[in-house]
Order: sequence, then C-alpha cells, then structure tokens
Amino acid sequence: MRVVMLGTGAALPDPDRCHTSILVTLDNGEHYLLDCGHGATRQMMRANVSPADVKRIFLTHLHHDHIAELPFMLISAWMLNTVGSPLIVGPAGTAKFTGHLFEGGAFDVDFRARAHYRARQENMEAMRPVVREYDAAGVIYEDEHLRMTAVEVDHIERDIARCFGFRIEAEGKVVAFSGDSKPCPNLKVLAQDADLLIHECTFSEEFMEHRRKSGVGTVAHTSPLELGSLAASANVKQLIATHIGHVDSLSPVLKRAAGKHLPVDQMGPHQLDAMARDIRSRYDGPVRMAHDLMRVDL
Ligand SMILES: [Zn+2]
Repeated sequence: MRVVMLGTGAALPDPDRCHTSILVTLDNGEHYLLDCGHGATRQMMRANVSPADVKRIFLTHLHHDHIAELPFMLISAWMLNTVGSPLIVGPAGTAKFTGHLFEGGAFDVDFRARAHYRARQENMEAMRPVVREYDAAGVIYEDEHLRMTAVEVDHIERDIARCFGFRIEAEGKVVAFSGDSKPCPNLKVLAQDADLLIHECTFSEEFMEHRRKSGVGTVAHTSPLELGSLAASANVKQLIATHIGHVDSLSPVLKRAAGKHLPVDQMGPHQLDAMARDIRSRYDGPVRMAHDLMRVDL
C-alpha cells in the first residue's frame, strides 16, 4: 500500500503545510482518505490522484483543520464526473456538518447553479454523501481488503465532542493514525506493534508552556518526548511525526500575528531538528518528520 501525507500542519494557516489529510491507497488502487483538512484536493492532484476517485472519507474529529476541505473536495469530485455517492464515516456531528453543506445548505446556490446543467444532473448523487456516524470505539468500516478500527483518544473536552484515532489493517500490515491527542492509555492500544505509526507531534514542551500561559487554545497534544516514549513502548516498526504546529515556520505573517499561539522568536527549521532529536532519545526505530506529499510504501 501507499501512504501519502497530503497535509501535515496544525490549525493555523501555514504557507508550507496544508491541514491534516492522509491518503491511503491499496495495491488494488482503492483509496481511503483519513481526515480532509484544507488543501487535500489540490495535494491529491499533485500526487496524481483525482478527487473523483476518492470515495471513502474517514474523520477522526470535527476540528476545522481536519474537515474544512470536505465541501471543496466533494464539489470537485462532482465536477470531475465521479460516479455514485461518497461514503463519509465520522464521529457524532458529521451528519449535521455534511447535512448543512449542499442542498439547502451553505453551498445551496452553487449546487443549484451547477445542477442546472445536464452533465451535472447525470451524477447528482455525488452531492448526496452517505454519512455513517460512529460514536464509540470499535470497527467502523470493513471491506474485503481493509478493516478500520476507531480508538478513542483525548483531545477536545469530552462534553463537547469525542475524538478518535484509527487502526487500519490491510495487506497484512497495520497502519495506525493518532488523530489529535494528548498522551492517553488508548494510544498504546492504537499503536501496538504497528508497521507504521502516524502520530501527531504538534508542540514541544516549551511551546506548550507558552500556550498554557497565554490561554490561546488547547494543549491536548503530544510532545516529541512523549511520542518517543509511546513509539518505544508500543513497539512500532516505523514512525511518522505529523500535525507539526508551525514550530519550523519562517512565515513573517505567523511571526507577526501568532504571538499568542507560539513563541515566535524561537520558531524556525531548527525546531524540527530538536523535535526529531527528542523523539529519537526515546525511540530507536526509523523516524520521519512529516512534510506535505511525503510518501511511504509499505
Ligand atoms: Zn488538528
């Protein structure tokens, strides 16, 4: 199978990273999209995949940096003559979110304008996704080639929403994806003996401390040291650290405007080196710091 990291950034806009989205493609050509953050459509085209051919989308949680691309991707697939309704599997709230997008929703005018034309009427089902919500851990999807199990993780306050990671079994391999989470016992269940663990690694301890002080947003993320410990204890065969919290950015806009989120005077590419060093201080296996369009063949 092939895994392409379409987007590898965290929640702020970042000129060098799109938002979270991972494309898993089996050797038989079937695609499975994990999260659909901003930029996913353009990135899959850069990876030589048409959005019209990506018909199964799995959402870990409903933060905008994991779902905001969904309307653009589905409209693009419609315009590129996809056949049939896409399947969207997501946590509670997914049906409400997708139900407010197209007919009668935010893109109602766009929908009606395009639906005026015969070619678009021929695949109207593309704008009527089949939504399957899951609200608990367990197998959330299975076909004859792949099984996907959701594992609850710890990110958004639980009385607002529950968040999940995915453990994927296909072609005799296990690929685990954390979604967003701070360390929690379930992450070891998720990652145990995985052939590939794709795990969020958003901020170092120092960066989280800055956020804690400024009260700007969540610190429910995993630091590089914590990720190294997890990967070692779960015996994973290789690791991709992703959802990088802009720590390596040189963007003058971020440096000017994101001072509450990040200690901007400490940002730069050397932070990625420091993150990798911290992970490797606790985990001996192969580590890659994700960048957009990174590809791994398993
Ligand atoms: Zn996120």
